[in-house]
Order: sequence, then C-alpha cells, then structure tokens
Amino acid sequence: MEDFSGPVQIADRVWWVGQKQKDDVFQSHVYLLEQGDQSVLFDPGSLLTFDDTLAKIEQVIPFDQIRYFVCHHQDPDITAALPRIDGMITRDDAVVVSHWRAKALIQHYDLKRLPFWLIEEHDWELQLPDRKLLFRFTPYAHFPGAFVSFDDASGVLFSSDLFGGFTHSFSLYAKDESYFEEIRYFHEHYMPSRDVLEFALSQFESLPLKLVAPQHGSIIPEHLIGFIFDQVRTLDCGIYLLAKKDTDLRRLMALNQTLRDLTRSMVMHRDFREIATSLTEILRRHLPVKAVEFYSRLDSGVIIHLTPERMYHGVLADPPVSVRERLGVVKPEAPLPLQLKRSEDGEGTPDWCWMLPLYPGQRREASAVALLRFADNFEQTEGIERIIATAISYLEVAVERENIYWELDLERKRLFERSIRDPLTGLYNRLHMLNALQPLLNIHDRDPNSGLSVAIIDIDHFKQINDTYGHAQGDEVLRRLARLLLDDTREADLAVRLGGEEFAVFFVGNTANGVATYAERIREHIGEMRFQRLTQQVTVSIGTAIRRQQEPLESLLYRADMALYKAKREGRDRVEQSQV
Ligand code: GH3
Ligand code: MG
Ligand code: MG
Repeated sequence: MEDFSGPVQIADRVWWVGQKQKDDVFQSHVYLLEQGDQSVLFDPGSLLTFDDTLAKIEQVIPFDQIRYFVCHHQDPDITAALPRIDGMITRDDAVVVSHWRAKALIQHYDLKRLPFWLIEEHDWELQLPDRKLLFRFTPYAHFPGAFVSFDDASGVLFSSDLFGGFTHSFSLYAKDESYFEEIRYFHEHYMPSRDVLEFALSQFESLPLKLVAPQHGSIIPEHLIGFIFDQVRTLDCGIYLLAKKDTDLRRLMALNQTLRDLTRSMVMHRDFREIATSLTEILRRHLPVKAVEFYSRLDSGVIIHLTPERMYHGVLADPPVSVRERLGVVKPEAPLPLQLKRSEDGEGTPDWCWMLPLYPGQRREASAVALLRFADNFEQTEGIERIIATAISYLEVAVERENIYWELDLERKRLFERSIRDPLTGLYNRLHMLNALQPLLNIHDRDPNSGLSVAIIDIDHFKQINDTYGHAQGDEVLRRLARLLLDDTREADLAVRLGGEEFAVFFVGNTANGVATYAERIREHIGEMRFQRLTQQVTVSIGTAIRRQQEPLESLLYRADMALYKAKREGRDRVEQSQV
C-alpha cells in the first residue's frame, strides 16, 4: 500500500502535497515547487483538503516560504482555500498567479493581502531561482481563462484539468495505458469539443515533457505520455451535447463509440465499396440491418444502382417507382422523421425498410437515396437518429465522390467510343480495326479450325453520285450502306469504314466457303437499296480473301484489294475472290 500521509516527491524539488479523499472519484491534487522563499503552490485546494495540504507543505518547507499561488482556473475545489491562505499570509510580496478571466471570478473571494499577478502581463512566464515556469494558454479546456504551467527544469507539466481523470481507485501514478479510459470519461464530459482539446494540446506538445501532473486522477509518467497524447488527440468531447433526453451514460458511450467509428471509417476509406460495407457493419451493432443499397442520379441524368450483391460496383438502373418519387424531392428545412415501412417489392417476407434521401454536394434536391433493409421492426431512439444523421452526412460525401468517378468513367467511355468509330457511319474506323482483330488473328494462328476472311467493298462511281446529287446525298448513301453492312453480318463479325467509300467486313469463324456467298448477298442487297433522290442504282464491287494461318493483316488486305481491282476491271457490280 502506498502511503499518502506525507508529501510525495515527484521530481526535482517538486512535491505532491494533495490529500487522498475517501470515496471521492474527483481527487484534487496540489503540487508544491520548492524554491526557497520563492516557492510556488499550484492550485492550493479547497476547505475540504487544505488542512491536510498545509501539513504536508510544512514537512517540506515552512508555509511562509511560498510566494506564488498559481490558480489555473477558479473552480472551488482548487481555490476555495484562498481566503484562508489570505488570512495566513505574513509577507508582502505573495501573489495569486492567474489569468484575467479567472481573476474576474476569484476576486469575489475578496482577498485582502494577496494581489493578482497576471500571466498575460508577464509574457507568459515566471523566472524562479533555478528555473523558469512557462505558462501556456488553453482556453475553454474547460474554462475560457484556463492555462497550464510547465517547469522547464524538471519537465513537469502542471496540466490543470487536461489529462485529469475520474478515478475509482486512487492511484497517484498512472500504471499503464488503461488510465486513458479514465481520462476519456472525464474529457468526454468536461471538454467542450475536440477542436478545443486539439488547440490546447497544440500549445504544449512540443515542450520536452517528462511528467504530466494533472489536478485530478493520476500523474502520467514519461513512458505513457506519448500514448495518452495520441489517444486524447482523437477524442470526441462534449458528449453531453448528445444527451438531450437520453441520460443513460452507458448508452451514450456506446453511441459515441459508434459515431467515432463512423468518422474513423470515413477517414480510413476512400473507396465507396469499403465505406458502404463498413457502414453496414457499424449500423448492425445497433440495428437489425440486413442490407444497405443505393440509387444515385448523375448530372447526366443516368441513374446507377449500388448493391452489396455487386460489391457496390454500380450498374445503370431503372429504379422502382418509390425510389424515383424520392429522387428530386426538395430538401426540407428540418430533417423529416424517419419512417420505417414495409417494402412490397422483393420476394418472400417483406423487409422493413428505410428510404433515406441524400443531398450530395450541398444539393437542394435529393439526387440519391440509401435504402436500408431491416430484418425486423425496432424502436427508434434519439441515439439511433443521431447515428443515422451522422451516417447520412458521410454518405453524401461518399456518394458525391462516387458520382464524380462515374461521370468521369462515362465520359472516358464516350471519348473512347468516339475515337474508335467513324462519326458519319458509326462503323469502327481503321484505327480500331487492328486492335479489334489482333485477338482473332492470334486465335486463328493457334487453331486452324477457327478462321477469318475479309470482304472489301467499294462503291462504284461514287464520285459521280457526289457530283450529280451533291455531297449530302453521297453521305446518305454511305450511312445507308453502313447500316446494311451491320444488318447483313453477325454480331461477331467486324464492319469497318476503311476510308472514303471503301468498307471492309471481317467474317469470324471458319467461313472458307461462305465468304463469297456472304459478299454476294451484300452486293445484291446494296443493289436493291432505293433512295428518294437518286434515280440511279447504287452498286458495289467486292474483293474477298480468306486468311492463311500466320498471314499478316496487310497481306490479307492486299489480296482482297487485288480481287477488288479485278472486280472493277471486269466491269464492276461483282464479287471477286482472291485465290487461297
Ligand atoms: P470507282 O468505281 O472506280 O470506285 O469510282 P469512284 O468514283 O467510286 O472512286 P474514286 O476513288 O474516284 O472516288 C471516291 C469518291 O468518294 C471521291 C470522294 O469525294 C468521295 N468521298 C470520300 N469520302 C466521302 C464522304 O465521306 N462523303 C461523301 N459524300 N463522299 C466521299
Ligand atoms: Mg468507288
Ligand atoms: Mg474508291
């Protein structure tokens, strides 16, 4: 058992002179910095503790050796003894060291002998015989005038309420990392927000801390400081703000943990798939969630559907009427109460379902919805609404990002399509021909039973058509002919506009005997085409070639070309085959 009946030296010339209060989770520590007749007492204490503190001080130095009474703030547990001290003071130079905001309150003790020594008027430091005290302003943690003191010789940070804890069993020193849980509880309730806490930490984190001596809880030894710092830095505070009607602390803590998890998950994950999956897992701790799916309308009007079945890789979708009705709804001033409904679609027993409208990118109208499916009905508490509201705000960011990816992807696809197609006819262009054919050539090289043949089609006297009927009519002929080529060939076959009025159709598969027949049919069909403004018939000449294994594409095209010239020479409007 540790003995707390006397002072405990915690660093060079630094003493703990507090009192162990029985049955009190709120231990208030007092520290003495022994500096001869320039000694300093930090946060002197209350009427409950002062007798004991005084006795401990006297074991180190006579009380009248103390010149400075540092009050990090004005709470009664650390300042209520001031009037008694004021009555005991015999020297003329003793002062209360504080900040003007604390002075404004402490002065109501009506101290007769002790004037104020304000830190902000002394460059935030106090020179002592063998060391200097540095004061760091930590406003709103948890008082607007709060500050901490750092002893530059011993490395002790007198941290006031920061790093303090509610302790259920008194321990002067924090034993291990578990002390953080006591800090957490205290800070979540006493510190107004994470921003405030972060600012406070930033005021002294670069100082060479050897020991942190808070007012409450336990002293933190050097080896735990880094860990505790990191933990406190990510703490969500001001938890009482969440409370409203719900005062069950255990539930609040669980709620707070969930909100924290949501935040962490959003910070950790950038990918929509991971966000949606982790969100579902987190929600499952509180709700009987079966699945979460999304519909999102892109700026281009396209609607995508993101489901766990497809790992949230969106697909273009035609959403059910209920979703369609919700998209485009104007954002209400206040969030609407969530309505749990039985969903009618789907098979088997209907799910309970929430449809949450999302307003990504600060939109005024819902451009996405999240559909939460539940296995069961459940009670809607304030905490759950809070979780959902947080989840929604994160989802809106995630959905917006996913939308941007989708738009970019669609645009990329559009650009790609444009680059591989001839704008007039929509057929593939020469550029794409090689890319598309390469795999077919490879297959044919390995497998003699697969095959590839080509028909090159050239319009007869096309120049004349242009000259007689105009370029626009010429274009119309090209378009109609292209459509006919697509109609007359199979999906696997490849129709290409080689340039001008010259086309190629690649027939895939073992068409050795078929190619001439196919070409003949194309020639006939073209001859049957009728145009409103053209009095003459459009005819084509066609040259075909069947690919030999290992034959380069140029060679195949060359042979087909030769056959085409032959067809032209022989009088046009005919099909000629290259010899195998
Ligand atoms: P041949 O029977 O020997 O093939 O005679 P031709 O007149 O069809 O052949 P030529 O190569 O002399 O003329 C092709 C014409 O096709 C010339 C060119 O102006 C026209 N042409 C090329 N591209 C287009 C196009 O995109 N639209 C239109 N309207 N005409 C085109
Ligand atoms: Mg021609
Ligand atoms: Mg030509």
